[in-house]
Amino acid sequence: MRAPFVIQGQSVAADQRAMIDVTLPKLNSHTSLSMPLHVVHGRKDGPRLFVSAAVHGDELNGVEIIRRLLESKALRRLSGTLVAAPVVNVYGLIHQSRYLPDRRDLNRSFPGSASGSLAARVAYLVINEIVKHCTHGIDLHTGAIHRTNLPQIRANLDDPETDTLARAFGVPVLLNATLRDGSLREAAAALGIPMLLYEAGEGLRFDEISIRAGLNGILNVMRALGMLSPSRQRARIPAPFIARSSSWTRAPESGLLRTLVPLGAQVQRKELLGYISDPYTGTQYEVRTHIGGVVIGRTQTPLVHEGEALYHIARFRDDHDDVADEVEAFQQTHMDNDEAIVLPIV
Ligand SMILES: [Zn+2]
Repeated sequence: MRAPFVIQGQSVAADQRAMIDVTLPKLNSHTSLSMPLHVVHGRKDGPRLFVSAAVHGDELNGVEIIRRLLESKALRRLSGTLVAAPVVNVYGLIHQSRYLPDRRDLNRSFPGSASGSLAARVAYLVINEIVKHCTHGIDLHTGAIHRTNLPQIRANLDDPETDTLARAFGVPVLLNATLRDGSLREAAAALGIPMLLYEAGEGLRFDEISIRAGLNGILNVMRALGMLSPSRQRARIPAPFIARSSSWTRAPESGLLRTLVPLGAQVQRKELLGYISDPYTGTQYEVRTHIGGVVIGRTQTPLVHEGEALYHIARFRDDHDDVADEVEAFQQTHMDNDEAIVLPIV
């Protein structure tokens, strides 16, 4: 029989599950706080994958993705170990905020330290209680509040294993992210742990396509790692396109934005993306993109100030038409084809 998985001083036997509380620094009201961890320790040996969500406390799609993942029948025949942290930034979740109470961004505070700021201490716990027990990782994010992202994977594609997993996830757009930014992804990479960051949807909102695509993506990665047996359903995995670069089109004026292009739209250089109107005078200003590409992120609120980021546009080496077609096929798959989705046990 496989050796038990020991985490937080608790032992989880092979073929067993457990929910474990990681003690966090208390709230200032003396209320105790803990970060929940779900451990599914498979019967057979295999990789140890962590899946984390709500590192930014207002990014909720990942919390629902993990809920569905833990209900998936596929986990009954798991090889290896799944460690799922549905709410990493518990403080932010309570306050519906991206940040920690010390106004720091947890995803800029890794690898953290046991004696540092609140953010540094939470980061340190995540690294030592979760990441260091694992061999691979997936961190789930959304856009900020009032901003939505096309489902996309950001990862260091220069690393061959990370690149393979990024392609296996099954979203049409990959961004090669190699920044040194204090993120969980960077800290995991420094420990030799390949990690993907999934970005989809909007802060403080559930988005069904993003949730389904995220759940499927994790299961696809687990199959690629040999943690799950290959799918019997012939689910369509899109051939991903790797963005060459990306940039934001900003508001040329303050006012109210009427947008003309959806997420995933293919746009040409200088194309009209929307109008900003002055609410007093009614004067209209055109918003045009300075680059051609595919819209991978967008503001959702009409209220904009001059200089605000409105449309995130990615440029691709391949033909933009192909990317836009693939994005449309992907959205269609996750919208109406329930057969392609591993449905949770009711
Ligand atoms: Zn985030």
